[in-house]
Amino acid sequence: MQIINHPDEMSRWSDATRARGERIALVPTMGFLHDGHMALMREGRARAGALVASIFVNPTQFGPGEDLARYPRDFERDAGMLKTVPVNVIFTPDASAMYSADAETWVEATQVTRGLCGAFRPGHFRGVTTVVAKLFNIVKPHLAIFGEKDFQQLRAIQRMVSDLNFDLEIVSVPIVRERDGLAMSSRNAYLSPEERERALALSLALRAARDRYRCAPCSGEELVAVATRVLNQTPGVEIEYVEAVDARTLAPASSIHSPILLAIAARVGKTRLIDNTVLSP
Ligand code: AMP
Repeated sequence: MQIINHPDEMSRWSDATRARGERIALVPTMGFLHDGHMALMREGRARAGALVASIFVNPTQFGPGEDLARYPRDFERDAGMLKTVPVNVIFTPDASAMYSADAETWVEATQVTRGLCGAFRPGHFRGVTTVVAKLFNIVKPHLAIFGEKDFQQLRAIQRMVSDLNFDLEIVSVPIVRERDGLAMSSRNAYLSPEERERALALSLALRAARDRYRCAPCSGEELVAVATRVLNQTPGVEIEYVEAVDARTLAPASSIHSPILLAIAARVGKTRLIDNTVLSP
């Protein structure tokens, strides 16, 4: 397993790997890995001869007052986990190597990032699509793997790849959960034991909506009402949004006959958590 810090060296490795006719899979992460990330790694391992994991806490996707400075980091532990997959390369650049001081170009999917988290985190998705476009140009993967945990991010990246003719395949992996249902997240490390208990309300709310939908497909409003009721039963869970949208476009859900994304963002203490589920008729 190679550890590469500089974009130029990463590019040279990818050129040589492509010249040998090998397929390259990329899994972009911000590190502090958990089993959700590892599911993406295994998918990449199965689909390509060469697997690159990037670890980069991307400053441009954090807003002022967000958790950039305290985002959890443990490179040694991450490297140990990635060795078991195994990945061929960990690409872990410095922010200064990724962004020149005079950089002024952004990549932005405008519509699909308007609602949901985009409404609460201005500039976040612009930072995500910009860094992912840069990673694609540096690593030159044949495929890149993303988790459905960050469903809006997945849609923004699919939009970008299609709109800008990036020549690669985007593969998505379902949400990996703890045994009790909590969606795995690096930010779960912020939760105290008591907050960790309260955080279960998100997955319970989604499950209640899913059960309601299974009885008979129903409107987005009803799904939102069911989920909101469960969240409101747990003190100390502050809802940011509960929304039901068209799972393909993320526009307001118009028909109960097409797949609906039910998405939640909520604060538990100081920690912002997200979770979602897709309901298909
Ligand atoms: P992050 O390190 O949080 O930026 O996440 C890196 C990638 O892992 C993204 O594509 C996420 O959607 C994905 N991911 C994070 N948590 C999970 C999870 N619980 N299940 C599946 N994928 C996940």
